[in-house]
Amino acid sequence: MNKTESHPFQAEIQQLLNIVIHSLYTDKEIFVRELISNAADACEKLRFHQSSGKAIQQPDLAPGIRLTTDASAGTITFADTGCGMTREELVENLGTIAHSGTKAFLQQLAEQKRPDLSLIGQFGVGFYSAFMVAKHVTVTSRSMLPEASGWQWTSAGLGGYELAAAADVPRGTQIRLELKDDAKEFAQESTLERIVERYSNFVPFPIELNGKRQNTIQAIWARNKSEISDEEYHEFYTFIAHDHDQPLFRLHFTADAPLAIQALLFVPSRNWETIGMGRMESAVNLYCRKVLIQARAKGLFPDWLRFLKGAVDSEDLPLNISRETMQDTALLQKLNRVLTGRFLKFLDEQAGKEADRYESFYAEYQRFLKEGVVTDFHHKEALGKLLRFESSHTEPGKVTSLADYVKRMASGQKEIYGLLAPQRAAAEASPYYEVFRDRKLEVLFLYDPWDEFVIEHLREFDGKTLRLAEKADLHLDQPKPHALPEEATTALAAWLKDTLGDKVGEVRSSQRLVDSPAIVVDADKYTTANMRRIMKAIKPDGPEAGTTKYDLEINPAHPIIARLDAMRREDVTLAGSVAEQILDNARVAAGLLDDPRAMLTRLNSLLEKVLTKA
Ligand code: ADP
Ligand code: MG
Repeated sequence: MNKTESHPFQAEIQQLLNIVIHSLYTDKEIFVRELISNAADACEKLRFHQSSGKAIQQPDLAPGIRLTTDASAGTITFADTGCGMTREELVENLGTIAHSGTKAFLQQLAEQKRPDLSLIGQFGVGFYSAFMVAKHVTVTSRSMLPEASGWQWTSAGLGGYELAAAADVPRGTQIRLELKDDAKEFAQESTLERIVERYSNFVPFPIELNGKRQNTIQAIWARNKSEISDEEYHEFYTFIAHDHDQPLFRLHFTADAPLAIQALLFVPSRNWETIGMGRMESAVNLYCRKVLIQARAKGLFPDWLRFLKGAVDSEDLPLNISRETMQDTALLQKLNRVLTGRFLKFLDEQAGKEADRYESFYAEYQRFLKEGVVTDFHHKEALGKLLRFESSHTEPGKVTSLADYVKRMASGQKEIYGLLAPQRAAAEASPYYEVFRDRKLEVLFLYDPWDEFVIEHLREFDGKTLRLAEKADLHLDQPKPHALPEEATTALAAWLKDTLGDKVGEVRSSQRLVDSPAIVVDADKYTTANMRRIMKAIKPDGPEAGTTKYDLEINPAHPIIARLDAMRREDVTLAGSVAEQILDNARVAAGLLDDPRAMLTRLNSLLEKVLTKA
């Protein structure tokens, strides 16, 4: 019979155990993660030892992890064939505060109102999480050192532990948990299987549960890119994104500075959000050395990159990172900044290499990038490079980047122009486009109502101010021959203001019209008709989009304007109707007339008059 020695726990360990044993903590399942990651560490140590050429015992025993459950007895055993522990190591590692983490963890727990025990592993005391669920723990271990024999450590977590020599122990460690009555569910194979899948799928040593292999998907993010086949990437993507289609993009990268990062990111081929499936949620998991820290980690990427799927692994995660506090840590922000910057750079590279593919990405995800421009100051510049628009200089359906626009700018041009319109035909027919066509100035066609916010928030690109066409201070190169002399134009403008009264702000002669008789110009430099409409949609009881006062600019080169001047002397009532119609037409062109039916009566009576004269 072997002699059994009793050892007391050191005071801090006992204090920690009291908390762990009596905790009402709900996430008790994390003990599985802790014991498996210890087993994986032990396998890693063995492999390292072996690879440095040192002798080990039972060299034919491959490193691996085996879990067995007995539901009726309420027990679980975690067995590994890793480095094992000598008698001294058992004493040192499982009973003394060998790790300074114990004190730090106790302090952290004392400071928290709702202690988060999931931190336990990161403070170097993960082993003790076993006592959340076990009333009795037996550790049987045999070190890899050639001379070592087996030892058994047992404890109920109260006061101390017993130590005894053990015969016929294979290399490695077996940890047997006798579960508490309220934790017996963990001995159900299906329960344990689910937990293993959740936390330990990417552990780099085989894990078996009751003889069945569990972790078949590899943590390929940690492998060398050149050794990974497309099939492996796709298998991983399917697993992590629950999506069987091919992703649009894949980014696999590692960085050492400013943070150690291994990341594998995917962009799904479809964006479920814009087809009305509800808000997407980021599905990038955060790992530390292949062990899951947080699934769908919040704060790892900005909200506007919520379509990304994948894995980020960083060894630099500090001890005190937890679900609750992680969002606020400076480190997470740094990680976020680095990852986001890298991903945007990647998109820009892809746009250069494979423009077509990038454009399908853009078609699917442009709203997310725009959301970024509007909400994220840090990445505005990088996002500006990624925007694409049709323009007066592209073929219909083709787009340009702002960078290419700038390259085509004439030497005197200082601003980048954009014209809001529902589609190309409307843009080209817009009175606001006339001056651009006349001067052959390129103007971006902005079809998305969000583009106005984008232009406003981006403000400038490559040192050039972005300007909406309706606010651009431009006039024609060569004024068209006037049908109406300047003085008469001024007089007509005054008459129009008199006639239209409160419906307009100022009336003046235009410098920018070719084919249109008149145009309305926003007196307010900062909002446009489009913006007012959006505001109106957000706040329906706000002012009507069409009721705000606009200045009216008239085109003295246009026959309608010249004839109107003659008409106001002959038939002032008819001229008044025509004036109102000109204003309404200009408002239609600006997209400002909320209810065009109101003008039909007038239009009909005008038609009647025209037909009577004929
Ligand atoms: P950490 O893993 O952060 O060091 P733990 O409390 O989880 O802290 O484990 C304490 C120590 O116990 C480990 O550092 C290791 O030396 C030893 N240990 C735990 N489990 C095993 C195991 N399965 N095989 C070998 N050593 C182990
Ligand atoms: Mg551990």
